[in-house]
Amino acid sequence: MYTDLKGKVAVVTGASKGIGNAVAIRLAEENMKLVFNYNSDEAGAQKAVDEIKKQGGDAVAVQANVAKEEDIQKLVDTAVEHFGTLDLWINNAGMEKEAPTHKLSLDDWNKVINVNLTGTFLGTKAALNYFLDNDKQGNIINMSSVHQQISWPHFADYSASKGGSKLLTETVAKEYADKNIRVNAIAPGAINTPINAKKFADPETYQETADLVPMKRIGKPGEVASAAAWLASDESSYVTGDTIFVDGGMKLYPAFNNGRG
Ligand code: NAD
Repeated sequence: MYTDLKGKVAVVTGASKGIGNAVAIRLAEENMKLVFNYNSDEAGAQKAVDEIKKQGGDAVAVQANVAKEEDIQKLVDTAVEHFGTLDLWINNAGMEKEAPTHKLSLDDWNKVINVNLTGTFLGTKAALNYFLDNDKQGNIINMSSVHQQISWPHFADYSASKGGSKLLTETVAKEYADKNIRVNAIAPGAINTPINAKKFADPETYQETADLVPMKRIGKPGEVASAAAWLASDESSYVTGDTIFVDGGMKLYPAFNNGRG
């Protein structure tokens, strides 16, 4: 437990399921007050909020499309109206569209960039404005991916969005470090969430992916949430502009295992 988180207020985007859901629930267990953003899955977000309230915590579910600036502002306003302040912003919402690059439509490219990169920019901008206007030593965490580092054929849209997110994290961290506003990223590897449901439903594909991981297993959303809780807390008070990889070693070129190469 990170006792300094008690009573602080967090917004987590894309918290209706998957990693965002696990992160928001973990922060609520740390006694934070939570704004659970969802885009379309109201039931998913509301279920977690109801459970948190039943256990004596405080949370609210809010619809917002992270690619729209006015929706992002709604999340800031909700945090302030419900809980009086904002301490932590987590840009987690994300999506991917698979296609060979020469067949990738501009529409799909724009969708992925708008949610993953522009959404992260808009969330970051709104949080920064709140922190600066209110003289807050705020904290921002961006959910990136191993694909900010590992190129991924057939996912040029996704890789470009996460590569962009990496430099956005580093640039903003440097820009606001003297205000004690920290900005970090988490780069998950292969995690068992709805984004991968189809892929992991097939045991052969599941194994193929697990074989890309030196630890030989797929990660759990809770393992990503643990990194988020640490980055949110004062235990990481001197860490900014960094990326924590939660990937079972996936970025370590596993093809070179056992002396190969
Ligand atoms: P998921 O599909 O299970 O959840 C994604 C969430 O983002 C959902 O709640 C969805 O509703 C929300 N979302 C999508 N578009 C949105 C929009 N326009 N506005 C608001 N919310 C929106 O995926 P996940 O695996 O939980 O992924 C969460 C984050 O982690 C993403 O940024 C993803 O790129 C990243 N990530 C996931 C993995 C993995 O293996 N699961 C690996 C690396 C990075």
